[in-house]
Amino acid sequence: MQKKILVTRSALPELNEYVDEIRDLWDSHWLTNMGEKHRELQSELKLFLDADNVELLTNGHMALELSMQALGLKGEVITTPFTFASTTHAIARNGLTPVFCDINKQDFTIDADKIEALITEKTAAIVPVHVYGNVCDAEKIQEIADKHHLKVIYDAAHAFGVHYKGKTVAKFGDVSCFSFHATKVFHTIEGGAVCYKDYDFGKRLAGLKNFGIRNEEIVDEIGTNAKMNEFCAAMGLCNLRHIADNIAKRKTVAERYLEHLEGVKGIQVNPVKKYVTSNYAHFPIVIHEKEFGSDRKEVIKKLNKQGIYPRRYFYPLTNTFSCYCDRFDASETPIALYISERILTLPLYAELALGDVDRICRIILDCRKRN
Ligand SMILES: *Cc1c(COP(=O)(O)O)cnc(C)c1O
Repeated sequence: MQKKILVTRSALPELNEYVDEIRDLWDSHWLTNMGEKHRELQSELKLFLDADNVELLTNGHMALELSMQALGLKGEVITTPFTFASTTHAIARNGLTPVFCDINKQDFTIDADKIEALITEKTAAIVPVHVYGNVCDAEKIQEIADKHHLKVIYDAAHAFGVHYKGKTVAKFGDVSCFSFHATKVFHTIEGGAVCYKDYDFGKRLAGLKNFGIRNEEIVDEIGTNAKMNEFCAAMGLCNLRHIADNIAKRKTVAERYLEHLEGVKGIQVNPVKKYVTSNYAHFPIVIHEKEFGSDRKEVIKKLNKQGIYPRRYFYPLTNTFSCYCDRFDASETPIALYISERILTLPLYAELALGDVDRICRIILDCRKRN
């Protein structure tokens, strides 16, 4: 039986390193509620991400959902449908109306030139997504936000440690939300963080993640429970020690894919843009079937047959989800629709052998030859 190759494989420290890290918890019996590991990870991430402030949460989704609640948004929010369910759900679960803007063809982030046409008197915020770690046009987005007095909340779930022109993405907009889910470049098993500037926002967010409890007697927000526990924070402390090595190895894998696939007719790759320091979170390709001579379905079938399981991130678009009961029309975001039907994210993780990358690429390129 051939080993299976999935789209990703969670990074893990040596077992002993983790055991050493959690040993303290057996002394303190303090397992959650902003204990020592939580505080330590918070301050280490503030340094690593070069953020003004960091709040840790149970997951990236709660980072988004509670950020919007803490900002007190009302009305409409401009976002993209080419993302994980979480982004759109976080908007909807706050009682806000998502207004979908199309993406650009090159890097799949929000097309900043199409934002202003969607602004109405009800627009409260823009929620762009740094898809695959590709940095949004933050300068343009901020200009629009300033002009129309809108908040900007970045879904930075894919952009851990990414820099643009030497500046950390954690300082973009009013708020940047990270996911530390097991499948992400940096993880705490489940976890997330919000990076922000404003002190009052931070106080509200910290309250909201702990039931809105201000102190022993005062509960002044209808909060929820979104506290990161000590075991997750300990995993984060371990993984953070190896993050540079992890990203360097991912880079080697991504560059090997590029060697094989860049310039192939009908295959669009996603090279790192100028001025961007990437984290190599994903390796997406777009299969333009007419030029390539074979379509995504065929490529997936061939890869699956060899035990290789790429994923269609992001298909389907969130504006087609049945839970939204036809409230939205995906034909209004035609580029996102086109890309979502042709995108394929290939396996990428630190320990993926270069020989396997060669094999994956050979299978993909063989699909072309058949026609
Ligand atoms: C993973 C992810 C999230 C949600 O993060 P969780 O930690 O799984 O809750 C949000 N947005 C995007 C784009 C993601 O990929």
